[in-house]
Amino acid sequence: MLVTNQDQQREDIERWLGENHSRTVLIPLLQKIQSKYNYISEFAMQLVADLLQISSAEVYGVVTFYSFLYNKPRGKSTIRLCRTISCDLKGKDEVARQLENSLGIKFGETTSDGEFSLEYTNCIGLCDRGPAMMIDDKIYTGVKPENVHVILDEFKQKKRLNNQSLLIETHSNNLLFSEIELGKALNTIITKSPKSIIEEIKTSGLRGRGGAGFPAGLKLELCAAENPKGEHIVVCNADEGEPGTFKDRMLLTDYAELVFEGLAIAAHAVNARKAYIYLREEYHYLQNHLQQTLNEMTDLLQKLQVSVEIRMGAGAYICGEETALIDSMEGQRGEPRDRPPFPVTDGYLHKPTAVLNVETLAWIPAIILKGADWFSSFGTENSTGLKLFSVSGHCGKPGVYQFPLGITLNKLLKEADAKNVKAVQVGGASGISISKDQFDRKLCFEDIPPSGSVIVFGEDYDMLDIIENFMEFFVDESCGQCTPCREGNQKLLEGVRLLKQGKCSSEHLEELIKLGKSMQISSKCGLGQTSANGFISICQQFRHEIMNRKPQEQGSQL
Ligand code: SF4
Repeated sequence: MLVTNQDQQREDIERWLGENHSRTVLIPLLQKIQSKYNYISEFAMQLVADLLQISSAEVYGVVTFYSFLYNKPRGKSTIRLCRTISCDLKGKDEVARQLENSLGIKFGETTSDGEFSLEYTNCIGLCDRGPAMMIDDKIYTGVKPENVHVILDEFKQKKRLNNQSLLIETHSNNLLFSEIELGKALNTIITKSPKSIIEEIKTSGLRGRGGAGFPAGLKLELCAAENPKGEHIVVCNADEGEPGTFKDRMLLTDYAELVFEGLAIAAHAVNARKAYIYLREEYHYLQNHLQQTLNEMTDLLQKLQVSVEIRMGAGAYICGEETALIDSMEGQRGEPRDRPPFPVTDGYLHKPTAVLNVETLAWIPAIILKGADWFSSFGTENSTGLKLFSVSGHCGKPGVYQFPLGITLNKLLKEADAKNVKAVQVGGASGISISKDQFDRKLCFEDIPPSGSVIVFGEDYDMLDIIENFMEFFVDESCGQCTPCREGNQKLLEGVRLLKQGKCSSEHLEELIKLGKSMQISSKCGLGQTSANGFISICQQFRHEIMNRKPQEQGSQL
């Protein structure tokens, strides 16, 4: 009997699905289909919909939401060049032109022999080593135009022999994590009550290290208090997608055991038997390393009767937002939910769920071993403890630096060997720009919100290039649910392009700043509430430079 491709797909999909027809398997199943068949065909989408008893429109909606899922055929391998500002600063455009020349195609196209598709991607967390790109799950850093041919040739040859990805070395100062003995904190807390563990974390003042800064101990307390006898969930948010941020990638590479130990302790504190790590698809190359680490820690984790599972994202910045992350884990489009209810009361599969950032979890073993007072002895009154900062851009020593919160920008920039600096962007694309006359300001919640990213811009850099890059990013990454964010980011991008052409009047710039401010208060989630930050702060601080550009094209001012 002739076995068609569709027969084979049906057999594969039914086998992969097995007995579990829960919606939570949707994204892993789609990833398996794509991995074997190159893309997810209409036939596959319909079959999956039938088997999961959901509509094919819902499956289509999920496939088209995530940037690493495809509903059209593409090359056998996909080249993704990072277009984030840190890679831009290091010469991404020259690499892009060379890739197009070498392959004979433009971005968004596939070579005629079907070998390669060429695409841009948003941040892949290699900002200290740009320009960076991925070919499938293999990463390349410090790419130079003259090396592109060699990379492509080597990839074609090595692909048949060895598709292993390498882990990345990251420059850092003396990180405290290297002093922490694996398993010691976990063995210590076995005899302690969950309540006392939460109290210790609360006393330390540890605030979420992903950016929002919510008190970690309070989050655990709220989660534990909800339905105390029922099932609870803890999730490690490893969807570090903020441009310029790579500290979590470093932690997952060099200190994964500590992150998992912190996760297990957090799970124990809220009486959760099941914990997850939601790993962004851009960090796919870390998956084997993390799984191996988890396998080696099985006995240790069993002491707390906690099992940890890795869930892969599929390429969406918005899934760093905790409710979008939970939706993604449930097999949905990663669209932020209305809040309340908050995940601590109604989270993954309606269970009380504490979602904690990678770095937040990594500090927990140190707090348990050295004590809350030790941790809170660092930092400022409302920003206690030590913090990691990812520094990239125009500096001699890009890397991950550990300092107490409250450190000045001057000190951090000196450590990273940054000279002749015009401005820095703190907090990635959604953060704020700080000009050099303010480098004595402090990185802490009382002053500049201390997200994990500091991008350095040298004297000659064009500030409008920065905002254009940021606004392109947000237009691409907005989930489109609410109008202020969906339309507002597009309008601001159009405004930047007018500014670049010297065609934007002062009055129009004021209107754009007002628009940005209204987005901050009317958007549904953190993305739309912060996406205009860079635009506003750069336009306000560098107004003279921006408005004094000569028109590049003929045309009247608005
Ligand atoms: Fe989606 Fe933007 Fe609205 Fe957030 S603010 S829900 S990302 S459209």
